[in-house]
Amino acid sequence: MNLWQRLYLPEIIRGLMLTMKFLFRKKSTLEYPEQKHSFPVGYRGVPRLIADKTGGERCVACKLCEVVCPPTAIYIEAEEHPEVSFKERRPKVFQIDFGRCINCGFCEEACPVEAIEMSQSVEIVGTSREELVYQKDQLLAIPADSRKPHLRGL
Ligand code: SF4
Ligand code: SF4
Repeated sequence: MNLWQRLYLPEIIRGLMLTMKFLFRKKSTLEYPEQKHSFPVGYRGVPRLIADKTGGERCVACKLCEVVCPPTAIYIEAEEHPEVSFKERRPKVFQIDFGRCINCGFCEEACPVEAIEMSQSVEIVGTSREELVYQKDQLLAIPADSRKPHLRGL
């Protein structure tokens, strides 16, 4: 090994050349979280609950999504709806455990009233398993993908 190689000069020069090569190219990284990645339409983030026109949940607590969910990530407790006569039941408790959810979209497919859909959100964080269990209000607060068409116009 000669002095040139002992000083790692070939590697340093090669590294600098690589840096120069990419210096003026379009950046492929984002300044997250200030800049967000735009996912393609149809990308499955986490499921979210869709609100009705009054801001309450559309869900009628039929539990079909709970039944089809492969990792049993959904837990629902139903109750009689106290106000709206045409909607007999509503979920008293609606939980999704994002520690278990595999983003398969089966819940969206199964729902007869389009009360649950896959969002583009991937920002589900927690420091314990309990924090990954989202309650009804948190699920309603997950933003919708504005590019995704909603069949019933909500
Ligand atoms: S996306 Fe799949 S795994 Fe997640 S809650 Fe829905 S049915 Fe369950
Ligand atoms: S399938 Fe739809 S209406 Fe039925 S419990 Fe699930 S979210 Fe609610």
